[in-house]
Amino acid sequence: MTLLLPLLLLLGTPAADSVDVLIRGGTVYDGSGGASRRVDVGIRGDRIVFVGNAAQSSITATRTIDATGLIVAPGFIDPHTHSFEGLPKLSEERRRNAGALMQGVTTVVTGADGRGPLEVAEVLTEAERLGIGTNTYALTGFGSARVRVMGNSSAPATPAQIDSMKALIAKAMREGAFGVGSGLFYAPQSYASTEEVIAVLKGATPYGGVYDTHQRDESSYTIGLLNSVREAIRIGRETGLTTNLGHVKALGVDVWGKADSVLILMRQERAAGHMVVADQYPWTASGTGLGSSLLPRWSQAGGRDSLLLRIADPATREKILAEMRENLRRRGGDSTLLLTGGAYVGKTLKQIVAEKGTGAVETALELIRTGGDLGVASFNMNEADIETFMKDPYVMTSSDGSGGHPRLYGTYPRKIRRYVLDKPVITMERMIRASAGQVAEVYGIPDRGTITVGGFADVIIFDPGTIREEATYVEPEKLSIGMRWVFVNGKAAVVDGVPTGVLAGNGLRKTVK
Ligand SMILES: [Zn+2]
Repeated sequence: MTLLLPLLLLLGTPAADSVDVLIRGGTVYDGSGGASRRVDVGIRGDRIVFVGNAAQSSITATRTIDATGLIVAPGFIDPHTHSFEGLPKLSEERRRNAGALMQGVTTVVTGADGRGPLEVAEVLTEAERLGIGTNTYALTGFGSARVRVMGNSSAPATPAQIDSMKALIAKAMREGAFGVGSGLFYAPQSYASTEEVIAVLKGATPYGGVYDTHQRDESSYTIGLLNSVREAIRIGRETGLTTNLGHVKALGVDVWGKADSVLILMRQERAAGHMVVADQYPWTASGTGLGSSLLPRWSQAGGRDSLLLRIADPATREKILAEMRENLRRRGGDSTLLLTGGAYVGKTLKQIVAEKGTGAVETALELIRTGGDLGVASFNMNEADIETFMKDPYVMTSSDGSGGHPRLYGTYPRKIRRYVLDKPVITMERMIRASAGQVAEVYGIPDRGTITVGGFADVIIFDPGTIREEATYVEPEKLSIGMRWVFVNGKAAVVDGVPTGVLAGNGLRKTVK
């Protein structure tokens, strides 16, 4: 004993000769972007403890998985999704997050579009206590802070209000947020000037991290796509945060073909020393609200009750309709909006118009008046821009998963099937890196995103022969197929293609310097 202990210390970790799970014979993409290797992977407890030739190293295992013909990869990390929005007050089914797990996603962000939690410690602790099926990390929200301090006001923030918002952001960062999100496209965040956002986000500067944004304009609504990208870059630069353009896209006919220009702006800024990245989902339709996509922002100031008063006033109603007409044109017309919420699920605005016999924007406004901001899938992107973005080495994968759009259940398998296997736009190496290792690096999430000895055992095994999404715009909640095994912190969350229901996820907290 007296001799053994110093000997063990000298050798470091004891040899991984016995493991809980041994994944044999798979093709391993380790998430670094390097070429695949035929190696075995061993898991003990919540960690990866072995990568190599198990037979040569005489590894014994409690459970052995034959991964011959299958791909072994690090669990994907989804940096922009709404799947955990509202955490921890979600049903157990939602907390289980099977839709993500069946795509190979083992970690999701909480807090997209600036609506992230302000009470980060409380949310993560409570989520862990109740149990979550995937890991999660938080981005606090500019929008949450603004609503907390100013309600739905369209006024500029006063210095005192800026101080209050800044303090909320700083507290959330101290509690372990990995950055701050904004959704400057959406009311009431849209009422904030660039300078206001910068002043508030300086609350995050001492902690570092990522500024993730659903930017002010992905189209030609207000300042235009390229000026909006410039604004997002400036906010990151002046607050010392990495800028991430969430769900980057060229939305609508007016900006089709501008993907290259967006990428050039990003590249120039990186060359100047400030990190700028983006994430993207592989679908031609975005998912948003009927009101968010068509209403002028001024009509939403003060919230829904104020909107209804404006609609009731004939002259104001005409002004709203005129701007809605322009917004509908920008998005591609009434056949490109598919209702995903309310009584008309599965119908396009054009079909509803035909049924009701009223004009397109008149029909839409009536739906908004009676049903609220109903969900829509808005077909407004073109394939060429999607592929241009995807090929860029600084564009990661995200789902932007939200109810009513197949991206919540199908993004990662779709990207693998459609853009890696069927029509190679990117390589499998790039796919795995863009969906795992790179996300961990950008967000500073330690010990995840790669298949590395000592790292957490978030490991997925999928069949390249069968992997694909099953979810469609009409049936958006169908689980993907082809994901054979998923381990979250070493626990089997998917076994032989079937979710086990285990709640093995952790709440991840950024360690503050
Ligand atoms: Zn968004």
